[in-house]
Amino acid sequence: MVIDVKKLKFSGKDEQTFHFEEEFDDELITLPDAKFSSPVSVTGTLTLGGNEVYAEGEIEYSVEGVCSRCAESAVFQKVITFDEVYSDSDDADPETYPFAKGLVDLSEMVKEKIVLSMPFAFFCKDDCKGLCPVCGANLNFTKCKCKE
Ligand SMILES: [Zn+2]
Ligand SMILES: [Zn+2]
Repeated sequence: MVIDVKKLKFSGKDEQTFHFEEEFDDELITLPDAKFSSPVSVTGTLTLGGNEVYAEGEIEYSVEGVCSRCAESAVFQKVITFDEVYSDSDDADPETYPFAKGLVDLSEMVKEKIVLSMPFAFFCKDDCKGLCPVCGANLNFTKCKCKE
């Protein structure tokens, strides 16, 4: 996810849109037994401003794993917006991301955003009834006799 700012400057423009699709390591996912079900998609706009470059846009990812309540397969989809500053100055604000040699690499920022947005649990559907704590029956599909 590298954007060559030199090319952008050379073209005389100060803004560029971008779109990347990249496979990320499943280790970013903190949920058990889950993996990315498709490449992570990143779309946005890069704007030049002196020693700084502004990157804003959207990250979209989809994780497949198991429902935290009933253990059936489940998919979690998330869209995160970002609005970040990249700086190649030596005394840059610590809030900014670094870049060097005119190359802005978005990968690290995208990784951080994904990790921060990862849920602790996700469900096959919002009203998943889960498993019976006594007999283990999936209460979405059957009614066991335990509660009676
Ligand atoms: Zn479920
Ligand atoms: Zn039961």
